[in-house]
Amino acid sequence: MTDVFTGNFTQQEPIPDAGIAAALAVMQHGRLHRYNEAEGEIAEAARLEEEFAAATGASYCLALASGGYAMTTALRASGVQHGDRVLTNAFTLAPVPGAIAAVGAVPVFVGVTKDLVIDLDDLAAKLSQAKVLLLSHMRGHICDMVQLMALCDAAGVTVIEDCAHTMGAAWGAIPSGRWGKFGCYSTQTYKHINSGEGGLLISDDAEAMARAIMLSGSYMLFEKHRAAPPPEIFAQIKYETPNISGRMDNLRAAILRPQLQELDTQCKRWNDRYSVLADGLQGTPGLTLPTRPQEERFVASSFQFLLLDWAPERVQDVLARCKARGVELKWFGGQEPTGFTSRYDSWRYAPSEPMPQTDRVLAGIIDMRLPLTFSLNDCQFLAEIIRAEVSAVWQASDTIT
Ligand SMILES: *Cc1c(COP(=O)(O)O)cnc(C)c1O
Repeated sequence: MTDVFTGNFTQQEPIPDAGIAAALAVMQHGRLHRYNEAEGEIAEAARLEEEFAAATGASYCLALASGGYAMTTALRASGVQHGDRVLTNAFTLAPVPGAIAAVGAVPVFVGVTKDLVIDLDDLAAKLSQAKVLLLSHMRGHICDMVQLMALCDAAGVTVIEDCAHTMGAAWGAIPSGRWGKFGCYSTQTYKHINSGEGGLLISDDAEAMARAIMLSGSYMLFEKHRAAPPPEIFAQIKYETPNISGRMDNLRAAILRPQLQELDTQCKRWNDRYSVLADGLQGTPGLTLPTRPQEERFVASSFQFLLLDWAPERVQDVLARCKARGVELKWFGGQEPTGFTSRYDSWRYAPSEPMPQTDRVLAGIIDMRLPLTFSLNDCQFLAEIIRAEVSAVWQASDTIT
């Protein structure tokens, strides 16, 4: 047991110097509220929206207090009402069904495949149950978006994308977040750009974005936005839309703008790390890696593999052995929700039909964070440890059964 990994799985990189300098400037002038501008000044929040719209190719962008708030705003602005049903992924994180519950709607869970994307057959079977799909690109796994959109368009189902794990990613030539009516992003510390908390919402739909801007708490100051629909779109909407404050402030926007400039470079660095791990684990007996189609231009800020059909105590054994060697793995199959892992049946406020195929996949999903503070050598070492410990438990169970 000499070979112990000592890296920290929750340690992100520091905020770039340019972000720190911009944040200091905001604190020095004191105008943190996004609508508090000096004469001729353009607020950091408005600039961030303009730059994120340009980066994604969206017509409009709105900066918000969190990714969860971006999702509830997208649902409200798409007309979801109390009591409506909203389709969403069974394999996702708690804020996604939480956003649906926040608007008084009811999640209808759609299954997950072995490649960790939404099961399009299950989706097709359930499309008639709702008018909206909140599609979570969970852990950066992107389904065939051409097929998904064809299914949803034919059924008249509006797609809202949860891109908390796909900032900078694409399916084919079209960025994640640009397929549906809205794309929702998080800038919470564990995502692709870090302001502690924060969210971004993009859309090409002028009326829906005007409603989102009113909902976010823009008072009547929407003309200060630079990535917003023209004022005439607000003519009626401004009277009809409640203010449910959840704006982003200039301090967070200042921290994010320099990070956005580096996003492409960072995405490449994540994927370099992912490749080292995937190569190192390829062909490990008992371990399955999700297939990643060529069209899926993912950003791997985390790593998943499957121990499919393993007995729970064997999985626990792998987790314990890896932990003893400094490797923190999370298991989506655990009975009790712990930390960031939970399953659709842990959200008891939103009961679901059982989904045996999905339960089988969830029971095997192992998840690992991949912070950029890990070097390529670290990733090589992590692969060696996981490979050795999975193999040891696999061989032992082989001899027992
Ligand atoms: C983090 C996350 C969100 C929401 O982000 P917050 O900013 O924490 O509200 C949404 N979906 C997924 C899959 C996430 O991981």
